[in-house]
Amino acid sequence: MFIYKKTTLQYAILLFKSRVLESYKQEWWNTVSKSTVMDVYTFFKTSLEYELCLDVLPKSLRLYFTRLRISVHPLRIQTGRYANDSKPRNERYCIYCNSKDIEDEYHFVCICSCYTEIRRKYIDKNFYVKPSVYKYLELLKCTDKTQLIRLSLYIKHALKIRNQHVYVEI
Ligand SMILES: [Zn+2]
Repeated sequence: MFIYKKTTLQYAILLFKSRVLESYKQEWWNTVSKSTVMDVYTFFKTSLEYELCLDVLPKSLRLYFTRLRISVHPLRIQTGRYANDSKPRNERYCIYCNSKDIEDEYHFVCICSCYTEIRRKYIDKNFYVKPSVYKYLELLKCTDKTQLIRLSLYIKHALKIRNQHVYVEI
């Protein structure tokens, strides 16, 4: 009798934990999917799970990769949201390459001519020779250590180049 009660209690606890977790996951997804800031994020992060890239990337590079994925960066697609410099989303052009492209993460990694040299150095040709948003998302979903490190190095150096452009313009 005692064993039966203990098993029932354990079952109830497991069931409770499972429902709390499911409820949390649902709330997380509702928040992420409604966010206008993290619209790209929802394309590659569809479930609340531990990211393997966190183990693969060295600490010094993890920051660059993670910030790009969650849209915490200085690109116009984000900075164009704010008061003094705000622009409608479709007018947040890249001011560095004069392409009239929106300066979003895809433009930054695969398109912008300001970073052509370092792109050749760090990014696999397949992602920028005939670029597409689909390929870009595949790159962000990648779990290959070498490719993740190279992408993170690209982001780090491209941001450095971008900051130098900003400095010159001020
Ligand atoms: Zn550009």
